[in-house]
Amino acid sequence: MTLPQRDTPPTPQQTADLRERYRIERERRVRPEGPSQYRSASAEFGYFAADPYVGVVPERETLHDAVDVAVIGGGFGGILAGARLRRQGVARVRVIEKGGDFGGTWYWNRYPGIHCDVESHVYLPMLDETGHIPEWKYAPGEEIRRHAVRIAEQFDLYEDALFSTSASSLTWDETAHQWMVATDRGDEFRATYVITATGTLTEPKLPGIPGVEDYQGHTFHTSRWDYGYTGGSPEGGMTGLAGKRVGVVGTGATGVQVIPLLAEDAGHLYVFQRTPSAVDVRGQRHVTPQEVGAARRGWAAERRENFLRIVSGEHTEHDLVADRWTESSALLEKLLPSFRRNGEPDFEVAYEAADHTTMNAIRDRVDAEVTDPSTAAALRPWYRYACKRPTFSDRYLPTFNRNDVTLVDTADSHGIERMTSRGVVVGGVEYELDCLVFATGFSVGVSGITSGKLPVTGRDGIRLLDVRTQRGPRTLHGFTSNGFPNLIQMGSLQNASSVNFTHILDEQAVHAAALVAAAEEHGAVVEPTREAEDAWTDVCAQGAPDHEWFHAECTPGYYNREGRGRPNGPLAYPHGAVAFHDLLRHWRAENIVEVLQPKVSTPV
Ligand code: NDP
Repeated sequence: MTLPQRDTPPTPQQTADLRERYRIERERRVRPEGPSQYRSASAEFGYFAADPYVGVVPERETLHDAVDVAVIGGGFGGILAGARLRRQGVARVRVIEKGGDFGGTWYWNRYPGIHCDVESHVYLPMLDETGHIPEWKYAPGEEIRRHAVRIAEQFDLYEDALFSTSASSLTWDETAHQWMVATDRGDEFRATYVITATGTLTEPKLPGIPGVEDYQGHTFHTSRWDYGYTGGSPEGGMTGLAGKRVGVVGTGATGVQVIPLLAEDAGHLYVFQRTPSAVDVRGQRHVTPQEVGAARRGWAAERRENFLRIVSGEHTEHDLVADRWTESSALLEKLLPSFRRNGEPDFEVAYEAADHTTMNAIRDRVDAEVTDPSTAAALRPWYRYACKRPTFSDRYLPTFNRNDVTLVDTADSHGIERMTSRGVVVGGVEYELDCLVFATGFSVGVSGITSGKLPVTGRDGIRLLDVRTQRGPRTLHGFTSNGFPNLIQMGSLQNASSVNFTHILDEQAVHAAALVAAAEEHGAVVEPTREAEDAWTDVCAQGAPDHEWFHAECTPGYYNREGRGRPNGPLAYPHGAVAFHDLLRHWRAENIVEVLQPKVSTPV
């Protein structure tokens, strides 16, 4: 793969000027508190306790039985793990899910305008298996949620599922070679295997703005949209907002999708922006089955593999998806190490020049679409492409040409200054609001077992969180850890990642199911030795991306711990998802028995 070429490379002076501009814009936004500027929405705000899609949670008997596999989390990770286990004939698979149905992020997030900005034909998993063919290039959230339900139905995952239930502890019983699974509904049942698929962006966060609890108007977070108040649906039509003064905080991937619809229905919309998103072309359109070759067996697997190869920096003859993700993929920061390996002559100069081209086009697009010069100036993003998650919209920028939309730039005060009982204060001006919507995102990784929310006690009473705190991340391939037999972890830690995360999850599900099958076949437990963990940690450490170099100059956000930088270290497989999947396939074929231990002995 090569970086996009510029006609005229920037001069050293232009590069120096741009770096200086980026530095100034970064300083305007960095807050000394770093990540602690946020507050956990569910811990502090009562309305997060209720599930808006269930109402009153139905009573049920507590369970004290035994299943083959307990899967923690009913998002795509858990669903795919369940489906892959079912395909190999596992009888009792019990998914435990906090929400009232399957879907995970697509269950909770139903805000107006919600879509996936990764192409639907590669994002939606198991299209070959279910026969579903998306009609739109980018699927609406409701179609994605229904697809999650479709897979769960097709693979009989409803039968044993526990909804509106959270696992509260996992404890290994060395005598029975089973996990004891406890839940917040009083269940205590046994499972031979536990698969954790708890997601990474699940805990909504609110800014810790002084006075946030004093606000007396209506307020909610985008992940708990209050249609009872706004009226309408994810397609819009929010009649409840007619004539109302509505504010929205946050202009990330969620804000960019929801703001055009809020603007259509609110009396007046105030958009409180700290950092503008890089808003690239979206190109939503109908796609026919012929266009994606859906008559061919395995068409969807082939297409998503093609996408993964491109966004992982691998060579491909054709770009089947051909959108701004694939066209700009060379700038994705995950590729930094692969460029170094490929021997780009002067990597940083080449990268920076290519980045200028892309970001200048994005900044020029703002000027072309937004008529008011000062609004356009505030909407121009001044940072490198991969500093923040890119966004894609053809409706967002023209929204700011409406007379009933006001952009309030909060950068000079590092965000909203404070809130009062009536509204929001920025630059000493109070904006009175009837309703304030927080599109302020999620705490990264908080829902995982490593946060301590779900205590996991393995052999000899050792706690997974203690091991991680004392020794750092230690796994084999990200899935299994010494001292925690038959515990299989899904997620990106010491594993692979991609912008198309459902693909990553599906490969993880295949691997998890293979581990279970191998253990069953050999009458063993799945548990790596310490040596295997150490060897894998070394693989992850060698060639890890130089995050510090890259993120030190980035505007703050969750990618760089709000400006504090991201630690280098053995946190992920460093050679890309395609190489990782090849490695796993080979290991499953040749070496899977290495992770099996006899049930009677304790590995050292
Ligand atoms: P983000 O964390 O990306 O954005 C939060 C927004 O809130 C930012 O604009 C942030 O500004 C702003 N903000 C936070 N605190 C303040 C403050 N004190 N004053 C003013 N503004 C503030 O959350 P999102 O929900 O937008 O996206 C989270 C992730 O979810 C995405 O990165 C993506 O992975 C996923 N997603 C995916 C979609 C898809 O189509 N596939 C769609 C939507 C989300 P600042 O940037 O300055 O911090």
